[in-house]
Amino acid sequence: MFGKYLKVADSCNLCGEELHHHRADDAPPYFTMFIVGHIVIPLVLVVEKLWAPALPVHFALWTAVTLALTFALMPAVKGAVVGLQWALRMHGFDYAAHQDEA
Ligand SMILES: [Zn+2]
Repeated sequence: MFGKYLKVADSCNLCGEELHHHRADDAPPYFTMFIVGHIVIPLVLVVEKLWAPALPVHFALWTAVTLALTFALMPAVKGAVVGLQWALRMHGFDYAAHQDEA
């Protein structure tokens, strides 16, 4: 689905399905922040409660965890958003509305 890390290919390299219609825009980063926040914040609270590490340890640990989770999840979340747009026939994925153009 992706030509580069987050660049959606114009079409599927397996079946040729056109993908350039997608309008994922800000949704993937929004959902990714939502997911990562709900993972990291509870972990911060648990680690602080159990071990109460020094603030620089918190800073180094959670910066690394947050960046790693964000970069790991973003492609999957963007793929899910584009897949949902495809499944709901949103934007240019509505072929019936564009049949006379082709
Ligand atoms: Zn395909």
